[in-house]
Amino acid sequence: MSARGSGTAIRLADCSKTFPNGTRALERITLEMRGGETVVFLGPSGCGKTTLLRVIAGLESPDPGGRVFFDDEDVTVLPIERRNVGMVFQSYALFPNMNVEENIAYGLKIHGAPQAQRAKRVDEMLQMMQIGELRERRITQLSGGQRQRVALARAIAVQPRVLLLDEPLTALDALLRERLRIEIDVLLHSLGITAAYVTHDQGEAMAIGDRVAVVDRGAIVQVGTPREIYYKPANAFVADFIGTMNRVRGTVRDGFLELPGGRIPWIQCGEGTVEVLFRPNDARIMPPGEAALRGEVVQQFFLGDRTRLHVAGVADRMVVVETTEHREFKVAERIGLLIEPDTLLRLKD
Ligand code: ATP
Repeated sequence: MSARGSGTAIRLADCSKTFPNGTRALERITLEMRGGETVVFLGPSGCGKTTLLRVIAGLESPDPGGRVFFDDEDVTVLPIERRNVGMVFQSYALFPNMNVEENIAYGLKIHGAPQAQRAKRVDEMLQMMQIGELRERRITQLSGGQRQRVALARAIAVQPRVLLLDEPLTALDALLRERLRIEIDVLLHSLGITAAYVTHDQGEAMAIGDRVAVVDRGAIVQVGTPREIYYKPANAFVADFIGTMNRVRGTVRDGFLELPGGRIPWIQCGEGTVEVLFRPNDARIMPPGEAALRGEVVQQFFLGDRTRLHVAGVADRMVVVETTEHREFKVAERIGLLIEPDTLLRLKD
């Protein structure tokens, strides 16, 4: 059962960060995270994701004028040990000289929890993360996935107000990443904890985020649900960073968008030359005789759950379309495409 909404709300107001060497890592970040919500910060390497997490944690302070609130409390000048946040990193950061149980109990001990309470909480954590049989193992005797479970257990054991996760799955192989991703998602929502999750992996961001904040050069360029970010990108950076996007140029005339491969009804404003975008899965493959748009298969890539085709002749440049049809396509095969007019996107910039 979801306990969403019971966690601590986080508010960042006008948070910039300039490092002493002059690097400006954050550009006036303003954002509200609802209690119990998981917000994923997604962006390329060096865009400021980790710095943002460190500002929320209290490991870095924002430049003067920036403010961080946990619920109504201004925590801007509170150090990390007084913010009650749990952190999980890509590198696990576990204590190698302690066993699993001791690692999980560490934060509780620091907080001065009595022995009996510590033992009870450690048992709960071992059970929740399904690592009971690893209780006495040393950290060096664990796999990557097991280490990450211990790191999560250690972070959650102290019942933090907020959980901060910095690329927690990056070091793991694809299969394990997917499994742990689902586990973390279920865990965060069953605990009702507010979580800030950093990743540069868009698939992970989509799967785990209630909302995704896309970061470009220190600024949040869009915040929205995974669907909003995917289907209604705010600008060209978001459109290109998340998934594959086709960009084509055509001419609007008499209520139609005319492309080299045919024309489709135009239901938006504008006349003359326009640039429009569409996702590969928004173009449906049809027999060429039945479709308003036609092209020719140049290449196909079988991806298992779908096939990706590069198609020439439809637009002023090659377009990418995806289909779940099981059949194989031939090079130079003529195909028809159906693109619903309302899936065509025009960007403002
Ligand atoms: P990655 O995905 O590669 O970890 P990131 O998005 O998390 O990157 P940050 O680590 O937040 O990015 O770094 C943002 C920018 O700030 C980078 O240009 C980085 O070089 C710079 N930076 C980070 N920490 C410091 C520091 N202590 N002093 C100076 N510059 C820093």
